[in-house]
Amino acid sequence: MFRLAPALLVSSLLVAQPPAPASKPAPPGLDLQAMDPSANPCQDFYQYACGGWLASHPIPSDRSTWGRFDEVQERNLATLHQILEKASAPSPDRDAVSQKIGNYYAACMDETAIEKSGLAPIQPELDRIAAIASKPAMLPELVRLQIEGANVFFQFGSTPDEKDSKKMIAAADQGGLGLPDRDYYVKTDAESVALRAKYLAHVGRMFELLGEPAPRASADAKAVMDIETALAKGALDLVSRRDPNKTYHKMTVAELVSLCPGVDWPSFFRGLGAPAFDSLDVTEPNFFRTLESVLVQTPLDNLKAYLRWQYLHSEAGLLPSAFVNENFDFYGKTLTGAKELQPRWKRCVEYTDTALGEALGQKFVDETFGAEGKKRTLELVHQIEHAMDTDLKDVAWMTPATREQALHKLNAVADKIGYPDRWRDYSAVKVVRDDALGNSDRAAEFEARRELAKIGKPVDPKEWGMTPPTVNAYYNPLMNDINFPAGILQPPFYDNRADDASNYGAIGAVIGHELTHGFDDQGRHFDAAGNLSDWWTPEDAKEFEKRAQCLVDEYSSFQPIPGVHVNGKLTLGENTADNGGLRLAFMALMDTLKGVTPPKIDGLSTSQRFFLGWGQIWCQKRTEEAARLRANTDPHAPGEFRVNGVVSNMPEFQQAFSCHLGQPMVRNPACRVW
Ligand SMILES: [Zn+2]
Repeated sequence: MFRLAPALLVSSLLVAQPPAPASKPAPPGLDLQAMDPSANPCQDFYQYACGGWLASHPIPSDRSTWGRFDEVQERNLATLHQILEKASAPSPDRDAVSQKIGNYYAACMDETAIEKSGLAPIQPELDRIAAIASKPAMLPELVRLQIEGANVFFQFGSTPDEKDSKKMIAAADQGGLGLPDRDYYVKTDAESVALRAKYLAHVGRMFELLGEPAPRASADAKAVMDIETALAKGALDLVSRRDPNKTYHKMTVAELVSLCPGVDWPSFFRGLGAPAFDSLDVTEPNFFRTLESVLVQTPLDNLKAYLRWQYLHSEAGLLPSAFVNENFDFYGKTLTGAKELQPRWKRCVEYTDTALGEALGQKFVDETFGAEGKKRTLELVHQIEHAMDTDLKDVAWMTPATREQALHKLNAVADKIGYPDRWRDYSAVKVVRDDALGNSDRAAEFEARRELAKIGKPVDPKEWGMTPPTVNAYYNPLMNDINFPAGILQPPFYDNRADDASNYGAIGAVIGHELTHGFDDQGRHFDAAGNLSDWWTPEDAKEFEKRAQCLVDEYSSFQPIPGVHVNGKLTLGENTADNGGLRLAFMALMDTLKGVTPPKIDGLSTSQRFFLGWGQIWCQKRTEEAARLRANTDPHAPGEFRVNGVVSNMPEFQQAFSCHLGQPMVRNPACRVW
């Protein structure tokens, strides 16, 4: 909850995914079995690259999506599982880090103790909510719930100041919803109406599990729905939130007080223990105006039902199985189409990663990632950066003034590979072996206070926003840095036994993707120092918009399921990054060849292997529910379109496979931003 504004802008390679079942290690380089050689690469390159894999890899029952990223994540999970099983065995030889992560995991795994405790771990909080006697008396509880990570009403934390990006400031952002996005509350199609009815029923059942009689539970669920719907109506939509100018509103505390006097803000900040400050970023003022009317118009008992719900929801995973199963029934089955709950150990590995990520990450790095991996990846990063330098110098539509700024920004990009230079110290987090829920609350509190303590301080450029085992990567425009966790620097993304072509098509393109984010529809608004400032001449900005619109139109035409279109505006940044990234990686590969044509491998040319390297990292399946959820909320297009949408814009691809005009993989006119 306390990583709001950065999370708003950070562009990752894919959305965070829950984990699932074991798979075999991938062979080095391309996976020929994954291909469908009977498919015509010029008709449907995705089918050609992934057809074999698609035919032989059903979605595991505890997953809603399954792809090459998930396979790697599954391997990482198995590694983390071993680490945690070993660390959880009580032994006097355990170091401090092993004790902490081991005891955290052991407490989470102790289902017997959790069942036996019943509601006892959450009863004190429920009693405090029940005892609230007036609206102003809600404040201490609001503070406590926010500190514990419950999503009550809004989000509050710290962020680099978008216009003074070396300094951390306080920020308040919209929040407080139980459904995935504000649109879920306001859309009127049959699908959305039915989903809201199921959500309402779920909230009611959770109240019943607390012991509320059915009529009261159902009335409380309705109260929750009314409050969340009102908040949703005041919240900004996802496409608008891509525009950093729409989510930066720095104001004084006094201005926030007049916007939303229903919250005693100075007392709230003091209650959180935040350092004193005079001004903050209120990302979406209209949301806080809406919150004010919700607080004024809603009866106290309804507000208390809402607090109870958000608290219960935030703790559901570590409560007795009746709550865990009910939670999965809605958020797993209904919303994503997963058939089965993940085994307990997977959930507990994930919880440990969330709570103590840089402690668990140290052990993961020790086991999997040597200095050699870091050095080789860095070389590759430098090659891709060199390719972008060449590209920016060549781009015909940029005027010299803007080009100079772009090159300046590129030169200032910081590269972060594998894991942080300095590990976070969790010694202040008290972890005990028989209190899973308490451990989780204390870890959340540690994280909240760590974030709050940054207010008014300089930004720490060494900090990471993902843990080392994560199979993902990101660009942060406020830090102007690209970040590649150790978790993704392995097959099929990167393998030092594989040929260059397949490595450049996979990890090379991932690196190019992150780098291009600095110059996509969102990243381009930030300068070399990470400040929100317009360094574009109006004519260059217009040229950029024109080219970006081509990608908006292209991707909007794709339908993951019949009748459901990809949102071309929501996915524009990612599509720009995919298209730019693959081109940069191709340039870098050609650079290393220095005009020499290497012999074919497995009957495939270097260029063909390069494009297959790209195609094969995106082999992917989704349940229909997951496909819908992603179409509504995910800034990334589905794998199929990340492959075909990009290659069909590239003459280099068409040359590699001898495609000709009129075939589907030859787009005319082709889109190109970078
Ligand atoms: Zn991305």
